[in-house]
Amino acid sequence: MKKSKWFWILAAVAVTLIVVLGSVWIFFAFGGPDPWPIFGKRGADWVRVEYVPEELITFSPDDGDLAVRGIVVNDSLFLVNNERPVPENHVFSIENYKETDVPMNRAMHEDYSRLSAAVKEETDDNLYVMSSYRSFEDQRVLFEEDPTVAAEPGRSEHHSGLALDVYVFEYAGAGFLKSDAGKFVNEHCHEYGFIIRYPKGKEDVTGFPYEPWHIRYVGQPHARYITLNQLTLEEYIECLEPGEFYRYDGYVVSRQPGPDLWVPEDASEITVSDDNTGCYVITFQEE
Ligand SMILES: [Zn+2]
Repeated sequence: MKKSKWFWILAAVAVTLIVVLGSVWIFFAFGGPDPWPIFGKRGADWVRVEYVPEELITFSPDDGDLAVRGIVVNDSLFLVNNERPVPENHVFSIENYKETDVPMNRAMHEDYSRLSAAVKEETDDNLYVMSSYRSFEDQRVLFEEDPTVAAEPGRSEHHSGLALDVYVFEYAGAGFLKSDAGKFVNEHCHEYGFIIRYPKGKEDVTGFPYEPWHIRYVGQPHARYITLNQLTLEEYIECLEPGEFYRYDGYVVSRQPGPDLWVPEDASEITVSDDNTGCYVITFQEE
């Protein structure tokens, strides 16, 4: 018996729908915006790695010869908030950025340079720094001027030199987001190792209102992981279980209590950061 024309029309509609919806799904799952809020976070999953003890070697963050061994010690994952103030005796590595008199943590000079170059290239705007490193004394002055906007001395991330309040000509503060540069920084700073430290909707976690102008350096792969999973630095450090190893984006990350730290023998490009919660975050690549 011959099938009716309605059968063929319905079949054609069904096939077309499957092809169109399938293509839309493939686009957003694999080629769409990153992160895509509904279809999940592309490339933002890590896998736990197990090493047998014989594969591991140990060192201490206090060893004097770490630089000789190619191990970088910085504070890129140093957490600062109301619960975890900066100990007043903690010394950060602060240096003026390039030929400017803007003091920044040494750890982020290269990546900040890449970010500001990208802003210039994409938006033709010059990215400026309103506020970078602040001493306890600087913060004391700001806090006494207006305790409703400035954090108490010790509780500002600016003490680390890893936080920057950025702006472009005519667009500063909350207005920064209205500029192309502000949009670019908010959408892409994670590609350069920075995060929006006080995101919208996470005020109860960070203790700070949304600040689209305040960027914080954490380096890779942390910036990508935090942003694509819509985490805060607090939540990220919390989800790194002490002693575990996580492989992500070509890196391995491990948070360990110390004083002895463990990495596999073939680890390279090793970076260690005190996280200000009593642990160290170790980041490395495998040869
Ligand atoms: Zn700030």
